[in-house]
Amino acid sequence: SEDSDGEGGLGNVSRVVIRPPGHSGKAKRGHLCFDAAFETGNLGRADLVGEFEFWFNFTVDNVKQDQRVIFNIVNINKKKNLFKDGMTPIVKSSGRPKWQRLPKCDVFHYKSPIHQNNYVLSFAFAFDREDEVYQFALAPPYSYSRLQSYLSVLETKFPENRFQRTTVCHSLQNRKLELLTIDHVEKPDKVDSKNKLRVIFILARIHSGEPPASFVAQGLIEFLIGNHPIAQILRTNFIFKILPMVNPDGVFLGNNRCNLIGQDMNRTWHVATEFSHPTLWAIKKLFREYDQSDCYQLDFVIDLHAHANLLGSFMYGNTYEDVYRYERHLVFPKILSTNAGDWIPENMMFNADDKKTGSVRRFCCEKLSDNVNAYSLEVSMCGFYLKGTQTMTHYTDDGYMRLGRNLARTFLEYYRFINVLPVPLASEVRSKRGRPKTHCARARSRIRREVQARPKTTRTYAPISYKDLSVCYDSDTSYEGSPIRSNYYGYGFGTRSTGNIYLNQDQFSLLHIQASKFNTLDFSTNSVRGLQQNPLLGIVRPTTRTTTT
Ligand SMILES: [Zn+2]
Repeated sequence: SEDSDGEGGLGNVSRVVIRPPGHSGKAKRGHLCFDAAFETGNLGRADLVGEFEFWFNFTVDNVKQDQRVIFNIVNINKKKNLFKDGMTPIVKSSGRPKWQRLPKCDVFHYKSPIHQNNYVLSFAFAFDREDEVYQFALAPPYSYSRLQSYLSVLETKFPENRFQRTTVCHSLQNRKLELLTIDHVEKPDKVDSKNKLRVIFILARIHSGEPPASFVAQGLIEFLIGNHPIAQILRTNFIFKILPMVNPDGVFLGNNRCNLIGQDMNRTWHVATEFSHPTLWAIKKLFREYDQSDCYQLDFVIDLHAHANLLGSFMYGNTYEDVYRYERHLVFPKILSTNAGDWIPENMMFNADDKKTGSVRRFCCEKLSDNVNAYSLEVSMCGFYLKGTQTMTHYTDDGYMRLGRNLARTFLEYYRFINVLPVPLASEVRSKRGRPKTHCARARSRIRREVQARPKTTRTYAPISYKDLSVCYDSDTSYEGSPIRSNYYGYGFGTRSTGNIYLNQDQFSLLHIQASKFNTLDFSTNSVRGLQQNPLLGIVRPTTRTTTT
């Protein structure tokens, strides 16, 4: 429509004002202003009624007090998705900068006959404050700038060489491919085939529209460079190489899966060239160097992803003709499954089909030596059901980071399992478990008492936080991925909410639109007929500059 003429760079709308038909002149309050021309923004077009990518991220301002709107995202074509399981868009505003989930009753996903039977995601929303900018997204964004400032903070916080930060190469748009090396291994004088130094590679954000992967990576990094005794053992025995953002251009541009030239980064490993895929090219070179080295042994390549169709966390792996190699390949996911409370074993898949040729894990299993175990670690964009219950737990930032910490702990158990690290003796464990001897305990110990055997319990690992069972998405990443605005609006990178402005977490849920008005619409038949009569209806469409696979 003519209203969409002002599209911003790279297919995103840039402050497009939606006016009713026949209106000209200055926009009035209530003529919504859409914007996605900022880092990680994604909105291709906005229309007054009038293929798919899952990722969207845009802002709306110039709203009217109590204005009620239905947003229709028209190119959500994947039939199978998590909307039926309670995944809903998240929202925040300039005055309330924590992300919150929209209530399920206001979100609909259905087949629309007037959109060639494609699927449409509709959500109803009531704006409550005229002077605020509202931002809607599918998942909490994790931008390139955020990663840069996070790494700078780490550098100042850990000055004593806990890790090295290097730039492997630059992307097509000259952004950095960052590499963190965590290596406190004491190098032996002579390295032979028996005492090679073991190297673990972790990759994240090959798919730029999967920000949860960045939170998992952050959890892993923080654990590994922290003071936890497990981290100390891991640091002094293994070399960790973490590439936290493999597709920095795609992340910056708000793409779903692709890089600048529109190619799915996890389907092009076998055809990557230095010219068109500089980051993949550089990583492949790194892999080969370590794999063919005389003093290093590449043990793991783990690629972090987020999944829009499945719940919980799980792994994808490869299948091998060599049954022993296949057995070895199954060990790590098995141990991780016992560590992660959100693990869903039914979602795991081990395959060797042609469709996934060009993914990291297939590339590694075909081109690198037999000892390399390559996996994709997936985590849901939505949440998971607590074991044995019908309660959906939505992931929070910390829920994702916990998976990263669980991943780190699993390396310890794995290397103990394969006898690379010594297994602690039962006596050592027992002595550590004992309570410190106090005066009372010493006094009591002289009295001989019959010790009753304790009832046997199964030891459960610390589960994901259960505290956020409400629809609120309690996020600490208030300003991340938000457009940079003047201070007047309260936006800006690197600043944090003091917590004062944000007194009432439930503001949005208290403001539910009179749902009955929307619920009476029959979305299954002639869905949008009723909606067309609503003058405030907006249709929004994420950019289609990406390919799907
Ligand atoms: Zn992915």
